[in-house]
Amino acid sequence: MTTTRPGSLSALRLANRRRLLSALQDGRQISQAELARLTGLAPATVSGLVRDLADEGELEVGEGVANGRRSRMVRRSPQRLRYGIGLYLGRAHVEAVAGTEAGDLLAESSAELAPGYTPDAAIAAIAALAATVRERAGLTADQVTGVAVAVPAPVDVRTGTLTEAVVLPALDGVALRERLGPALDRPVVVENDANLGALALTRRAGAGAGPLVYVKVATGIGAGVAVDGRLVRGAAGSAGEIGHLPLDPGLTTVCRCGRRGCLETVGSAAAVGTALAAALGREVGPAGLHDLIAEGHPVAARVLEDAGEALGRGLGWLSMVVDPAEIVLGGPLTSAGEAWLRPVVRGFRRAVLPGAARRTRISLSPLGERTESVGALIASLTENSHIAVEMRTDKQDVNA
Ligand SMILES: [Zn+2]
Repeated sequence: MTTTRPGSLSALRLANRRRLLSALQDGRQISQAELARLTGLAPATVSGLVRDLADEGELEVGEGVANGRRSRMVRRSPQRLRYGIGLYLGRAHVEAVAGTEAGDLLAESSAELAPGYTPDAAIAAIAALAATVRERAGLTADQVTGVAVAVPAPVDVRTGTLTEAVVLPALDGVALRERLGPALDRPVVVENDANLGALALTRRAGAGAGPLVYVKVATGIGAGVAVDGRLVRGAAGSAGEIGHLPLDPGLTTVCRCGRRGCLETVGSAAAVGTALAAALGREVGPAGLHDLIAEGHPVAARVLEDAGEALGRGLGWLSMVVDPAEIVLGGPLTSAGEAWLRPVVRGFRRAVLPGAARRTRISLSPLGERTESVGALIASLTENSHIAVEMRTDKQDVNA
């Protein structure tokens, strides 16, 4: 017997709408039959969605010829085609991409930032780089719907203030979203980088409907949790900060958060770099790590096994709370491929119950290094409206 809940129905409908609009994001005109084939949706579903979206002015519908037959032709209303800019603000650099709602990239660029930069320097660099990618993409300022900035820290998305500023102390207490709005003259989203990675992955073709966890493993470790395509942020944006799970209080290394035994002191890319440097007597970057793995270097293999198993255990703890259908890994260690993924899966399976060990899929992000910036691009076009809707709802509640 099939049961339906109104909540899941509307979430599915929303996902189908997004899929359909994404298929038309490049602006070309295609037949309704072709649209059904591209989206994998049933022709009747496509028919209903096209009718609704045409009523809303999102689509233009007309008669035409496709494959020698008279067909119902559909295209995105030119005035509704939307472009956004997604940025990543790191400790020493800024990256930017310009692209479409479908996640298609039109231009990208990056710039160095002096470590310990001031808020003014960060805002100026973001504004300059956003203008660079916009121009490279051939877009006018008016054509850009919104801008989103990914930061490697928990964020209060209403103001864009970092709620834990260990990684970017210079931005402690700075309302980035409010400051960036006038500088960019566009609606701005500021969001945790792992959350944006999760957002990007939920929108990719073939993404399942179950809870998804994206884990960015870099200097620190952060997880983004998405349920039915919506981010779980927590009260202050700190949901998924698994880098500071007290994995083993017996560990001797003191974490940058001031505590001992945190997952990131043993499972992060920084921890891998420290262990490799200690054993080999030299610095090893992501490319160097890839080479060491390719030549079967025993030190690299062992360091990745230790770090991967520790990360897997930490993900096991998270899994006990969230029970994700899928866990996707990102960050520089993905360059090590299976040599890193295997121990992560092993550590995870040891940490969870047998059912979760069998059914939870763990993989490397198919979007590679661009996972967070593609997420920022999507958020620049979708999350602004989401926030506006939430604000309106709050107001209605007050008036009720
Ligand atoms: Zn810590």
